[in-house]
Amino acid sequence: MAEPEPKPEVEAEPQPQPELEPDPISVRYEMNAQSRFFLCRFCGNHVVTMDNCIVGVEGTDVNGIICRNPVNVEHDDTMSRSFLNRLPAVNVRCNACNKYIGEKFVGLTPPCPRVMEGSYLLHTDRMLYWNGTQLRYAPGAYDDRTP
Ligand SMILES: [Zn+2]
Repeated sequence: MAEPEPKPEVEAEPQPQPELEPDPISVRYEMNAQSRFFLCRFCGNHVVTMDNCIVGVEGTDVNGIICRNPVNVEHDDTMSRSFLNRLPAVNVRCNACNKYIGEKFVGLTPPCPRVMEGSYLLHTDRMLYWNGTQLRYAPGAYDDRTP
């Protein structure tokens, strides 16, 4: 005998809808001459501004950007230790296309620099970059604005 379908909850009376939080996918940066930011290469989702980038990383495993406060991403709960000298990290995904685009560092212990805790490593081969005039393949954490 088949399992009965769970019945959807039906409200007897329509409830007033609370104000919804803005859809996280809707976070968009201005694409203008002064803005510099990274996008998901797979779907064009906006991910992080250059101002939130701390440093670029180039290694044999991965080329990436250490950054803070990315938008439109979510991370797995499962810890992995794949990159950057096997530091503890969780996988980070674009929340629009669900593609894996980097890691978030969690549970770091000394001698790791404290600035690393809670920061993100986003892979440049999974990013696009808005350079003020056009989208390009991500060059790394290199701010090309003239000061
Ligand atoms: Zn995406």
